[in-house]
Amino acid sequence: MAPLRPVIEMTNVTKYFGEFKALDDVTLSVDRGERVVICGPSGSGKSTLIRCLNRLEAHDSGRIVVDGIELGDETANIRAVRQDVGMVFQQFNLFPHLTVLDNLMLGPMRVRGMDRAAAEALARQYLDRVHIPEQADKLPSRLSGGQQQRVAIARALCMEPAIMLFDEPTSALDPEMIREVLDVMAELAQTGMTMICVTHEMGFARKVADRMVFMAAGKIVEIAPPARFFTAPASRRARAFLDQIL
Ligand code: ADP
Ligand code: MG
Repeated sequence: MAPLRPVIEMTNVTKYFGEFKALDDVTLSVDRGERVVICGPSGSGKSTLIRCLNRLEAHDSGRIVVDGIELGDETANIRAVRQDVGMVFQQFNLFPHLTVLDNLMLGPMRVRGMDRAAAEALARQYLDRVHIPEQADKLPSRLSGGQQQRVAIARALCMEPAIMLFDEPTSALDPEMIREVLDVMAELAQTGMTMICVTHEMGFARKVADRMVFMAAGKIVEIAPPARFFTAPASRRARAFLDQIL
């Protein structure tokens, strides 16, 4: 069997905002097809870590290699990595004046240079995947929050990324809509997509994660399989965190 080459390698990564150290010597490698869930208290650096992976934030020291491409100031590398990495945020960031279908077709046409017919076929395929094909011609504002977030996931998938990053994708949703988004994410995990998800949805984490990463104060404090993390976390900080949220 071919060895699993890490598709993401962060080595001794540090990131400052002014004097404040938001990432402190973070080392993490993720294999192709692996599902990693990141949790930890607010302000612990989870979003910063995720954002460094497609250079929405620039790290100050250490190395980040994504799918064999090193992230630095090189714009060609940044562009290549961004084509390879899909991202879904807490806020959906859909274009309000475009229909759902047009939101999905924009990236494939503008960035991937697909013609209209091919982009539409692709967009419809991914709308099916997130179970809302009937919403294609509506404006985002006519959809529920859960549906809008599924559109945002479909939009990222239309770029056919190798890696999907999720930053608290359900934390802006009404409780009754969380499930439909997590179900779509779990289905995506089953396709073998490499995923890094920041979420506090621990039911999802138990079911989907290969590894849990626990962060506190800019550091990775603990990395463990979910079975161990949830029953016997090694660190006192992870225990205290789990006591609060479970
Ligand atoms: P988390 O996602 O775990 O809640 P973040 O990665 O968003 O944490 O933030 C980590 C720390 O870095 C926080 O203290 C936050 O206030 C700070 N921070 C994040 N982004 C910025 C920024 N653009 N400028 C200044 N400080 C920031
Ligand atoms: Mg965050």
